Amino acid sequence: MKIIFATHNPYKVKEVKKLLKAPFEITSLAELNDHEEIPEPYETIPENAVHKAKVIYEKYQTTVIAEDTGLEVAALGNAPGVYTARYAGEKATADQNMSKLLRNLEEKNDRTAQFRTVAALYINGESLIFEGILKGNIHQKAQGTQGFGYDPVFMPLGYQRTLAEMSADEKNQISHRFIAFDKLSKFLLEKYT
Ligand code: IMP
Repeated sequence: MKIIFATHNPYKVKEVKKLLKAPFEITSLAELNDHEEIPEPYETIPENAVHKAKVIYEKYQTTVIAEDTGLEVAALGNAPGVYTARYAGEKATADQNMSKLLRNLEEKNDRTAQFRTVAALYINGESLIFEGILKGNIHQKAQGTQGFGYDPVFMPLGYQRTLAEMSADEKNQISHRFIAFDKLSKFLLEKYT
């Protein structure tokens, strides 16, 4: 089953290609030589996920998946949430975003947080969403070199290592993205194969 993954994030492509194996055939926008930016105009993660899938579905008229992920930190009223990518500014780097997060948590005792991924599927003109949540804590400092984004400061519940201190396979067995795409994959296998 041929599916386009509507993202420009190479890390997400790598993770999702490992999660959705045969009979799925995932093509990234980079592989289609499509570098056009996809806007995220909404204030919620599910709306942005569906929007990304819809834009690419309308462009290519084939089955599309997309996802939007946010980091929700309890002591910050679930911020940065939908602003996770732009927490320290429009073109902020992962290091700048993590520094701002660690600064804002300096005085807080509660460091609980969760990653929320909403995977959107656009198929036959219809959209469906699947959610994955990974609970954990924001560590005192960045640790590890694997993964991307906020991985160096996120320690999943029950682990003494950050996501960036795990191998790609280990992260892929527990992550928010895994949980969301596992649900999506089971749905597709049940309904379309
Ligand atoms: P978006 O879903 O592309 O809008 O990304 C939201 C933000 O969350 C970006 O800053 C990403 O770097 C970050 N992010 C998304 N997924 C992960 C992850 O699995 N680990 C760490 N950070 C992530």
